[in-house]
Amino acid sequence: MRGKIILVILILTSLISLVVIIFFSNQIRNLDIESQFNEKNAYNNIKDQLNIGDRIPGTEESNETAFYFIQRFKEIDPNIIYFIHHFKVESTNCKNVLFKINEEKESIIIIGAHYDSRAKATKDSEKPKKPVPGANDGASGCAVLIELAKVLYQEKDILSCQLWFVFFDAEDQGKDEGGYGMEGWDWCEGSNEFVDDIDNFYDSSDENFECMILLDMVGGDDLQFIKEQYSTSSLIDELFEIGRQLGYTDEFPLFPQYSSVIDDHVAFLEENIPSADLIINFWDNPNWPYHHTIDDDLDHISKKSLKVTGRTIEQFIYNNYLDKSRKIYNGNKPWDINLPNAEMIVLIGVILAGIGGLIVFIYFYRRKEN
Ligand SMILES: [Zn+2]
Repeated sequence: MRGKIILVILILTSLISLVVIIFFSNQIRNLDIESQFNEKNAYNNIKDQLNIGDRIPGTEESNETAFYFIQRFKEIDPNIIYFIHHFKVESTNCKNVLFKINEEKESIIIIGAHYDSRAKATKDSEKPKKPVPGANDGASGCAVLIELAKVLYQEKDILSCQLWFVFFDAEDQGKDEGGYGMEGWDWCEGSNEFVDDIDNFYDSSDENFECMILLDMVGGDDLQFIKEQYSTSSLIDELFEIGRQLGYTDEFPLFPQYSSVIDDHVAFLEENIPSADLIINFWDNPNWPYHHTIDDDLDHISKKSLKVTGRTIEQFIYNNYLDKSRKIYNGNKPWDINLPNAEMIVLIGVILAGIGGLIVFIYFYRRKEN
């Protein structure tokens, strides 16, 4: 009889500890603040870029696109601080554009996207020589950046961070299975040049970089992010956790695909800045098979996807950098410490409960035998 009671107690304790573990493994609690990010505005920002034309590096359309960003940011704040970062690739003039909000704050969050569109649709079986419209691959990330800047600017006085919005040129002209976008160019030329010159854009004696978040192909139909593997794991885990808590469980799946992608965040990682790339499976994706084809156009853009991306980043900023939140986090950004993610904690809990159960079972089995 006593043995049975012990058994029941042990099983109950295992179950309770499992429930407690699952409960507390949700380390990210979104602050209860209403998101302002508007997906219709973001959609129109894509449309505007496509109306300009193909944003191929060195072209008039590329210049016009950079000018378009400056116009849009001046609408947000006529005195916005911005830099045009000029560089050359194979004697073609290229430029990144950087905008700053809250430039007097020490800690800098960089949010980036590339704005160039690919000169050749190298994965298009019919028209591989034509340019890629780049509605998703290029314009979507930039569109989200503009709308994010607009909504975060309204809260800037209660944010404890400085925000950089960076539009990279010359990301998408490298060589894939069909050939180069532009002959001899590598991927991510713009972000590499930017990071090479990053000391020109800030004062390392009293400013520092918190993290960098890259948005690439965030506006296509049936959005489903992968866990990109160069990304700082705790940072990308946190973004997934925030997205899931907002209810975006299809877009941030519990069991995502894993892959390493050379993208504009890699240069920042090499500079020891924690960085994450929000990107989709673009190599083998039945839900969005338009990568580097002429069908990467407005017809395959989803407003919902833009909303999911924008609101997740907006929430990330509020969770970590709203002055109110300092009490909750005590200044500890979740990626500063190496916390195991929720799934791992649940798994450990299940294994421990299993081992406990097994020990109890063996104990009683042997007692019976005696
Ligand atoms: Zn691309």
